[in-house]
Amino acid sequence: MAFVQRTHSCGELRSEHAGKTVTLNGWAHRVRDLGGVIFVDLRDRSGIVQVVLDPQQFPAASDLKSETCLSLSGEVRMRDESTRNTKMATGEIEIKTSSYEVLSPSRPLPFPISDEEQMKTVGEEIRIKYRYIDLRRPSVMQKMMMRSSVVRRMRSFLDSRDFLEVETPMFTRSTPEGARDYLVPYRLKPGQFYALPQSPQQYKQLLMVGGIERYYQIAKCFRDESQRADRQPEFTQLDLEMSFVTQEDVLNLAEGLLMDVINGVIDEFGLDKEHVKPFRRLTYDESMLLYGCDKPDLRFDLPLFDISAIAAESDFGVFKGAIAGGACVRGVRFPGGSKLSRKEVGELESFCKEFGAKGMASLSYEEGEFKGSIAKFFSPDLQARLKEVSGVEEGDLLCFIADTYMAGSNVLYRLRNEIGDRCGLRDPRVLSFCWVVDFPLVEWNEDENRWDAVHHPFTGPKDEDLIYIDSDPGRIRADCYDVVCNGLELASGSIRIHRPDIQAKVFSLLGIDEATQRSRFGHMLDAFSFGPPPHGGIAPGIDRLVMILADTENIREVMAFPKLGGGYDPMMDAPSDVDEAQWVELGLMMRPTPKKEG
Ligand code: ASP
Repeated sequence: MAFVQRTHSCGELRSEHAGKTVTLNGWAHRVRDLGGVIFVDLRDRSGIVQVVLDPQQFPAASDLKSETCLSLSGEVRMRDESTRNTKMATGEIEIKTSSYEVLSPSRPLPFPISDEEQMKTVGEEIRIKYRYIDLRRPSVMQKMMMRSSVVRRMRSFLDSRDFLEVETPMFTRSTPEGARDYLVPYRLKPGQFYALPQSPQQYKQLLMVGGIERYYQIAKCFRDESQRADRQPEFTQLDLEMSFVTQEDVLNLAEGLLMDVINGVIDEFGLDKEHVKPFRRLTYDESMLLYGCDKPDLRFDLPLFDISAIAAESDFGVFKGAIAGGACVRGVRFPGGSKLSRKEVGELESFCKEFGAKGMASLSYEEGEFKGSIAKFFSPDLQARLKEVSGVEEGDLLCFIADTYMAGSNVLYRLRNEIGDRCGLRDPRVLSFCWVVDFPLVEWNEDENRWDAVHHPFTGPKDEDLIYIDSDPGRIRADCYDVVCNGLELASGSIRIHRPDIQAKVFSLLGIDEATQRSRFGHMLDAFSFGPPPHGGIAPGIDRLVMILADTENIREVMAFPKLGGGYDPMMDAPSDVDEAQWVELGLMMRPTPKKEG
């Protein structure tokens, strides 16, 4: 079907185009019929421009509806001084229409996409059901453009550093990354299944054995795990791997790449964000000690402190008892917290209890003295030490948790972030990156009574720690690293095992017996017997990176076609039933769901 194609895009028009005749293609974002004149805000991907139609000349124009798809020609002219709109990039000019053509009409919309305020009240399910309309909103489109820019910049950075982009299969065997697999039935052998990859981990390592040396891929990963706001059943990583490298090489490359991509996007989109600076570096042990977690938000200081030694000498029975029972007493400073009411302090304590704390003790510091019901249990000497260890300042509140190191860490980490929020210290304009390195190789899984890989089973133990593999596996540190930004884990990677004997030992440590090693990972063990190069890599999450840039905590906002919690796609109505014939063809039968007892 012929139509007049655009000479310009809506968003590019400025005063220097005045006097030019242009043709635009786009959508009627908003239509205002003032009787003597009709204004249409015409929108395309690049932006919005005001178009003027004379109803005498175009009587049918008064019927134009929002989101009608149009081709329109006219002259660019300066707006009257009084009607210029400084909030719009094209606000100095407008188009005096000489002809237009409806390319396709639009039904009334399910939600008002031209009104961002009203859109805030529209439910997410309906937005996702009509995502193709939601995408037209400039605010949503901007996120798609940012995402595309992120990926383009990643490709160009890696292409210029000799990386090869290689695609790896989607239909494969299970690659464990700690989640459940999505399975695809195999028609030719009923009862057999492919697994969708939780990551291309094994393939990328096999590419290194294959001599590719430097690989990357914009990789879809599939993980069936509980759906939280920041999780989706399928998500995208920049997956990369390098041969003949040390940990330092991978860190330098990834840090350079992230700085280049993020600073580039900040400039391109004029984002109200500080440029990324070189990353701080923390070991896992330091991070746990200072921030209670392996993903600290470093936009603000407030390190945790340990007062176990002081508490043991105090007369406070609760602390003394906890310490006698093997717990420690650690705390965090709430700047200006001495002004909190009793009720507000109670709320903080309830917050801690939500995360498993038995209680929270506190002391305020005013006029150079500790105040609060437990102050009396600390002698002047102990109070002086408390002051020094905590770095308390006038007007602060010190919050204490007595628990095991790990349980206390978990509470204090959350409490520290909560304090950060309440004090306005988590500024969205600041991007505070750090590396967390030297993770433990394995952690004890109480429920299953076995060691689990902290990263994944292919992560290399530090050479010097291998001696603990039989005697004390929890002590082994791995050549494993995370990138953390503003309290979010943005990338994980490691130097890999490339010796078959060590890989087999680690599999055994993880409770994978020899027969299973052969049946599930025989290809890896075999490959490592044919001159594998030392290698390592990392995989930054693309969705997460765009979330940080776009200032959203909802991963669905940065995906073109996201799924709702639970993995349901209301637009395609997927997952869906399939025909009986397909069940038969695939050799599948539904097993009755066992009745729940009680
Ligand atoms: N496959 C890992 C992951 O998805 C990343 C890596 O080790 O490179 O977290």
